[in-house]
Amino acid sequence: MKTTKNVAAPLQLYCYLFGHNYKVTKNVTSYVKEYTCGCCKKQLTTNSNGDLTELTPKFKEINSILEEMYSRRLERSGAHVFNASAY
Ligand SMILES: [Zn+2]
Repeated sequence: MKTTKNVAAPLQLYCYLFGHNYKVTKNVTSYVKEYTCGCCKKQLTTNSNGDLTELTPKFKEINSILEEMYSRRLERSGAHVFNASAY
């Protein structure tokens, strides 16, 4: 017997009504970040225009490349401000 149905989760309804509760989950570079909604777990990221867009697998890939380039550049410039362990 299967009772599972695809009903909208109450949390998603909350987001729909009151807006998402986004939190920064990853600092890719100083201006590109990844956000996750604390309610429905929807993920956003900053695109090349500086706007927020849905974090698709393609953007995840772009971000991982960006992150690598960014951390390498920090290493070369000798900056130690990148504090990834804070969260
Ligand atoms: Zn949400």
